[in-house]
Amino acid sequence: MHLKIAGIVLKQKKSIGEQKYLTLLTSQKGIIDAKLRIFGKMNKNISRNINVLGYYYFDIFDGNHGYIVDSAEIIESFFNLRYCPKKLALAQYFCELTYLFVPSKQRALRHLNLLLNSLWLLEKNIYSHDFIKCVFELRLLSLSGYMPNLVGCKICCNYEKETMFYVPFRGELICSDCLENINQKYDIYI
Ligand SMILES: [Zn+2]
Repeated sequence: MHLKIAGIVLKQKKSIGEQKYLTLLTSQKGIIDAKLRIFGKMNKNISRNINVLGYYYFDIFDGNHGYIVDSAEIIESFFNLRYCPKKLALAQYFCELTYLFVPSKQRALRHLNLLLNSLWLLEKNIYSHDFIKCVFELRLLSLSGYMPNLVGCKICCNYEKETMFYVPFRGELICSDCLENINQKYDIYI
């Protein structure tokens, strides 16, 4: 069966015979492992141009021995991330975390969108690295069923205070004013 599916390359490895194996995050099938077809349709240049962090439109054969990538058309390479070691490290951390959190062979459109949006923001320098990292981690936790309450302060329900603190063991946000008010109970609350 042939599939036409969009996906981002989370990992890749090569065997001794130069056979390339990819781990992809796709919207329809979640995380899948696929190998590149060496002979036939797959052109060597295309094979060389498929890289980690690239988002492609794949033509995949779903056979008895797993998925085989026949061809790939680039949608977004996120190539500029490679010019900054810190951005590249953070992008690979996002890929690794996504790989650990997303169940295999299940639809993962929201996880895919989160990863793509985070990489795009990282590449365009729209927010700081630390901000994007925190948002990515919390959104991934939320999508993965841990459900931290990130709507607003747990006590006063305000969601637009300048400083908000995340209480990891409770999975809640608390604003700086409320934290000050319960300062004496701070250790107990945390
Ligand atoms: Zn509050």
